[in-house]
Amino acid sequence: MPFSHSLSKSLLLTIVLGGSVNRFATAIDEPTAPPQHAPATPHSSGNPWPPPDTSVSWTSPQAAGRRAVRLQLLAFNDFHGNLQSPSVASARPVGGAAALAGQIRALERTAPGHTLIVHAGDQLGASPPVTSLLHNEPAIEFLNLLANRQCRYGDAMRFFDAAHWRGQPDRCNVIGTLGNHEFDAGPEEIRRLLGGGNASDGPFVENPYRGSRVPYVCANVIDRRTGRLLLPAYAVVVLGGIPVGVIGAVLRDTPSLISAWASENLTFLDEATSINRAASELSRLGIHTQVVLIHQGLEPVANGDGYGWQGPLRHIVAQLDPDIDVVVSGHTHNYTNALLPSRGTTPVLVTQAYSYGVALAQIDLRIDPVTSDVVAKSARILPVWADVAPGYPGDSDARQLTDAAQAMVAPRVARVVGQLPQPMTRAVSAAGESSLGDLVADAQRAATHADIALMNPGGLRSDLRAGPVTWGDVLTLHPFANHLVTLDMTGAQLRSLLEQQWPTDASAPPRIFKTSGLYYSWDAARPRGARVVEACDASDAPLEPQRHYRVTVNDFLANGGDGFSAFKALEPREIGPLDTEALAQFLERQERAPELQSPVTSAPIPISPRIARADLGQAPLCAAAGSGQPQTQK
Ligand SMILES: [Zn+2]
Repeated sequence: MPFSHSLSKSLLLTIVLGGSVNRFATAIDEPTAPPQHAPATPHSSGNPWPPPDTSVSWTSPQAAGRRAVRLQLLAFNDFHGNLQSPSVASARPVGGAAALAGQIRALERTAPGHTLIVHAGDQLGASPPVTSLLHNEPAIEFLNLLANRQCRYGDAMRFFDAAHWRGQPDRCNVIGTLGNHEFDAGPEEIRRLLGGGNASDGPFVENPYRGSRVPYVCANVIDRRTGRLLLPAYAVVVLGGIPVGVIGAVLRDTPSLISAWASENLTFLDEATSINRAASELSRLGIHTQVVLIHQGLEPVANGDGYGWQGPLRHIVAQLDPDIDVVVSGHTHNYTNALLPSRGTTPVLVTQAYSYGVALAQIDLRIDPVTSDVVAKSARILPVWADVAPGYPGDSDARQLTDAAQAMVAPRVARVVGQLPQPMTRAVSAAGESSLGDLVADAQRAATHADIALMNPGGLRSDLRAGPVTWGDVLTLHPFANHLVTLDMTGAQLRSLLEQQWPTDASAPPRIFKTSGLYYSWDAARPRGARVVEACDASDAPLEPQRHYRVTVNDFLANGGDGFSAFKALEPREIGPLDTEALAQFLERQERAPELQSPVTSAPIPISPRIARADLGQAPLCAAAGSGQPQTQK
């Protein structure tokens, strides 16, 4: 049957009914673990689940026979306001505030007064409605309930004078840093969330909202209006008589991940340089147990007997000051437990515990009380199961917080907007396409009557189950409230934009748009800038370089997000509805279509290909392709 890109076929109907040949079903790359999304890429699914039950450790040759003080770090990252269990892995519930807090408190009891709880950013933002509709305050309240009495309101952004650590030791047991998502609503909102003060509208989970009792540190962000750091670079806490320096940092590329206005008064500095400046200050003060919380991460690459580690954090760690012992990482939502080389002779212990509170890193430090330096260190990444102890039945304070927040948002999220006969997921084909991405792009194109819609993969924050889809599900999938923007682009501009999906850094994975009304093949073997082999529109006509197309993207992309700077210069722009409204309306309309009343199945939805990989032998998708492939292959 000939493959056609007529408007109706290219919309949801094609996916659900499987109306065209499903050549790529076997190429679908199922995520192995529940967390898998922040910078979603076709190549980032190397995470084991559950995490390997092994410990990574290092011991100094000088450690033998010495008395050592044991300290424990409990670390999580990229919680993203997931008060409720975010997903099911291995058919079991994982994460959720109650389970995470329950497990943290159980581990803390094994080393009371010797435990420091840390997080590596993206504690909030890109959150489900239980947090986002309450202005992200529940994500901070969650930290507050882990904090001991030494952590005080008003101190979260206090510039601590580390020279006084002996005279006035700080014994607060929780410290965090900022991720890119803390910057989503700009620095004033960071100050409000940490320092307190009610948001403009309720409902309020705490009234008046008092802010964070947990101090935040970040060494590499300057507030240009004051010329000073936005937050303190580091904090020093004294545990078991040992001073521990905790340095924070966020990825330097944060401005490319947030709206332009949110970073206009901020300068993001080189991570390693900023961390090292803080590290040498700490060393001068006699603080030799040093922990970095950084919102940047690695990708695990399975090899014969374990994992190799790739990604931008590797280069940062390699430059770090030799006094730094541990790096708690985040952002990539991955499993990480590694000893990596830094500038010094001893390796740095680097961890990351997936995301959304589904796991945590337990890091064990042995410290020589005479030198106050680390003589041994080890780490395990522990799953946070929500159906067995210590995550079950979970912490009652955290459960109360979750229940209260849920009750407040329930009236606003319960409305059913549509029904899906099958699940729609972010699992990508080898070419970078997903059923959920296709659905969302179709919804955006339909909402604006554009020729083409392009969606950034990082904007899809959760999958949709089969059955009823609620407004809450839509808000969870699209937590950013992005407006749709329709731009006028020539075929030539579109083509060059597609080429930008492969970053200049060859080791970085491509960022493949989810498409509607656009079909193309690419070839990984061809040079950068010439990877797109053929491209056509919904009517199967090749993209014409001179022709003008109406192209819908969200305002994050329209303002140059994800490094797609070419969008920024395009004028005029039509501002359309919110992404959430577009999707909800699309689902509402689809629900009424009788074709969709097919039986619900749990089988993976077949993807009718919009993007193909020529280097994998996949057939071209455009009738008039210049590739010379015979039409009968369709
Ligand atoms: Zn992040």
